[in-house]
Amino acid sequence: VKINEKYRMTNQRQVILEEIQKVRTHPTADEIYQMVRRRIPNISLGTVYRNLEILHECGLIKKLELGRSQKRFDGYIDEHYHIRCMQCGKVGDLAMDVSHLLDQASMSGSDFKILDHRLEFLGICAECQLKKVEKTH
Ligand code: ZN
Ligand code: MN
Repeated sequence: VKINEKYRMTNQRQVILEEIQKVRTHPTADEIYQMVRRRIPNISLGTVYRNLEILHECGLIKKLELGRSQKRFDGYIDEHYHIRCMQCGKVGDLAMDVSHLLDQASMSGSDFKILDHRLEFLGICAECQLKKVEKTH
């Protein structure tokens, strides 16, 4: 089966895609490698990296490159915002509509034709909030 003009859907690629789509934790390449290895024990980290780039190029997964932390991947490709825990680094989906009003509003501030924007919310996740409370008692 062809994904696009350039690539076929190989078995390895299919397994990597399925593993990413199973979770909503936005795993890193290393985490995906560990997940995929349970199904393809002899796969290499390099192969996983290469296939992640191809799946991204084909629009089947999203790459999260915000912040200075490691790249993360997302199998949920509908547009949505992310929230990152400043304590533990966990990345979650935000249940809020993406605002195209921002794109329009930004155009009055420059001579660019704005097509898209990237926005990440930062905070402390529920688990880390609890840890803080435990410490103070
Ligand atoms: Zn946290
Ligand atoms: Mn997401």
